Amino acid sequence: MSFNDVITQWDEVKLRGLFQSVTDADVRAALRKDDRSLRDLAALLSPAARPHLEAMAREAQRLTRWHFGRTIALYAPLYLSNLCAADCVYCGFSVRSENKEKRVTLKEPEIRNECEALAAQGFESVLLLTGEAPRAVDPDYIARGIAIAREYFASVSVEVYAVDQEDYRNYVAAGLEGVTLYMETYHRPTYAEVHLEGEKADYDYRLDAIERAGRAGVRKLSIGALLGLFDWRTEAFWTGLHGRYLQKHCWQSALAISFPRLLHHPDRFQIRDRVGNADLVQIILALRLFLPEAGFNLSTREAPELRDKLLPLGVTHMSAGSSTRPGGYATRGKEVLEQFEIEDFRSPSEIRDLIRSLGYDPVWKDYDRAFDTA
Ligand code: SF4
Repeated sequence: MSFNDVITQWDEVKLRGLFQSVTDADVRAALRKDDRSLRDLAALLSPAARPHLEAMAREAQRLTRWHFGRTIALYAPLYLSNLCAADCVYCGFSVRSENKEKRVTLKEPEIRNECEALAAQGFESVLLLTGEAPRAVDPDYIARGIAIAREYFASVSVEVYAVDQEDYRNYVAAGLEGVTLYMETYHRPTYAEVHLEGEKADYDYRLDAIERAGRAGVRKLSIGALLGLFDWRTEAFWTGLHGRYLQKHCWQSALAISFPRLLHHPDRFQIRDRVGNADLVQIILALRLFLPEAGFNLSTREAPELRDKLLPLGVTHMSAGSSTRPGGYATRGKEVLEQFEIEDFRSPSEIRDLIRSLGYDPVWKDYDRAFDTA
């Protein structure tokens, strides 16, 4: 049974009814359990759970400390290219975005410059990113980028366009540890409305991509929905559903969840389902209670005050000192097009100090359990 078969059993109409039918007693019962069901996840995401956020936060903190200790792993994004042939209406890299800033693809010496700059700041984990330009930035180029980055970092992950299982296998052979691939929205009609051109417009190919990566031997699989495209309760439920599916079908890989929230966007796109801070907190807490062993990533998309508050609630990985333009650390200037504006401009050393001040240990390399026990 593919994940598409699973998700179609939980359509948005059924979920809306489920969220509305949850009672206070259902939420309390979900809070008391050790092993939570999909109905418990719905209860924790429902409006009835809102008065229980404090109790959920205590349980989320307990579970996170049990599974991860008091550690927060730090990583940095490294954009290899901002070329993109796709038209995702919410994205600054889109081929139709009408942005006039430069489009570049880093050459090998430039990739090395960027790696050196990040390694000098102490990073040992890096996330390589590109747009979707499979002709100009093909899988061989990405594999080469992985191999170069691996010379500098203990852990290399990618957040690039979806590829075939064979390409993921080649990435693993080049030294890849993780794949981050957001479905953006699991809601098929909304997906079609916001992905107008490019291979990314193929919902089914993208939906199955992270499982292909797992089957190809990628050790760390990160998923997420771009919050703001569709109803957040439903997206969070589907993300949890996908996470549990991957834990079952790709059990040799570690699962991680990200919570990218649309805050900045091109003028031609308006956010339909805005996600407030309390909503984001509820999503993180509900998913932590449902998936206690999953890593949780928090990027610099979010503002410093909020990141500081979210940190003890289940977060295990944070980016720091991020640039979202290729060459943004050492090679190119601000004339190069960035993907989106970040909110947290603090340096890696400031984030490290903050983590310590909150009683956690900053970790520059995250040796996850799947790796240790392989
Ligand atoms: S989200 Fe990715 S594929 Fe879509 S326009 Fe942006 S960079 Fe291109």
